[in-house]
Amino acid sequence: MIVQNIDLKPFNTFGLSVQAQNYLAVQTLNDLAHIDPEIPFFVLGGGSNVLFTKDFEGLLVHIQLKGIEVWEENPEEVHLKVAAGENWHNLVLFCLANNWGGLENLALIPGTVGAAPIQNIGAYGAELSDVFMYLDFYDTQSKKISKMSHADCNFGYRNSIFKHSLKSKGIITALYLRLKKMPHALKLEYGAIKEVLAAKNQLSTPSIQQVARAVIEIRQSKLPDPQKIGNCGSFFKNPEVTWAQYESLKDNYPSLVAFKTNDPNLMKLSAGWLIEQCGWKGRNLGRAGVYTHQALVLVNLGGATASEIWTLAQRVQQDVLQKFQVMIIPEVNVL
Ligand SMILES: Cc1cc2nc3c(=O)[nH]c(=O)nc-3n(C[C@H](O)[C@H](O)[C@H](O)COP(=O)(O)OP(=O)(O)OC[C@H]3O[C@@H](n4cnc5c(N)ncnc54)[C@H](O)[C@@H]3O)c2cc1C
Repeated sequence: MIVQNIDLKPFNTFGLSVQAQNYLAVQTLNDLAHIDPEIPFFVLGGGSNVLFTKDFEGLLVHIQLKGIEVWEENPEEVHLKVAAGENWHNLVLFCLANNWGGLENLALIPGTVGAAPIQNIGAYGAELSDVFMYLDFYDTQSKKISKMSHADCNFGYRNSIFKHSLKSKGIITALYLRLKKMPHALKLEYGAIKEVLAAKNQLSTPSIQQVARAVIEIRQSKLPDPQKIGNCGSFFKNPEVTWAQYESLKDNYPSLVAFKTNDPNLMKLSAGWLIEQCGWKGRNLGRAGVYTHQALVLVNLGGATASEIWTLAQRVQQDVLQKFQVMIIPEVNVL
């Protein structure tokens, strides 16, 4: 049932009070029939990667579909079908409890399962696309659900087809994921995972549960808990620049932090480092701030308005552009 004038404050991790003119909670697939394709709609999961800069005038479709089932199983793998409204971290915990590997590096990422393909969520050297098989996509025009394969989704770094040609065209209703039984293939190279495991004498034969605990510990030390300080995680993507641009920046700023990409002609710069160099780390504009421990995260210091957060984001973006001639683009979906 569609209801009018709902305050979205409980439904976005920035904790911003904005109104949705029309709101539909989708708890069964039948609820999707209420969506009129002629009226602009926005799909909301956990609201952990969205900044509402103003009230939303269309239909806000809030995905609350639930269910995790073993779809197929063989001696090496388990294939799960997971409904889009399931909480991502709960899914990770469910897999860990069953000793199914593949999601341990993606522990504690907020949000829903259905949103994970949108930006191909990733952390600590792993991405959704590593375990992804296919998904169910509801097309709001044809009102039909069809399967999309890995190749159909066109996954990239914090990117997929759902940010481009399929943006606002439909709704992901379920994911099919491939998890691994023993022996697990661990990814320990990224960030401080090895150091944390070594400090606990767990580095020689770590389990997926120990890896997940290490990831959780690192994340908790770096990122603000949205329950306590409103935020959306990394606000900007790490920008990619050409080798020539990278080399000229490196000449001027020898401490520049950059990473290789799959494309030998492109380097990825640390957006957090760029922002920090502009003096923004720990600073604020009114009630919107740049997080003290991680310059990539913008925070609601308490009672900020949506436009305060957006004004801060734009100021940070302009300063980075002016100092480095590099444009940093929001990873967060700005509405
Ligand atoms: C503290 C913190 C840490 C974070 N760390 C990470 C991290 O390490 N790695 C990372 O990748 N992200 C991270 N994020 C960002 C965020 O958690 C992910 O992007 C997550 O997938 C968003 O899920 P959500 O359900 O909250 O999506 P929402 O914010 O509700 O929506 C995000 C986008 O997905 C679309 N969408 C949502 N559900 C569906 C659906 N079922 N069908 C179609 N479209 C849909 C929305 O329209 C919107 O465009 C972090 C966020 C926070 C607050």
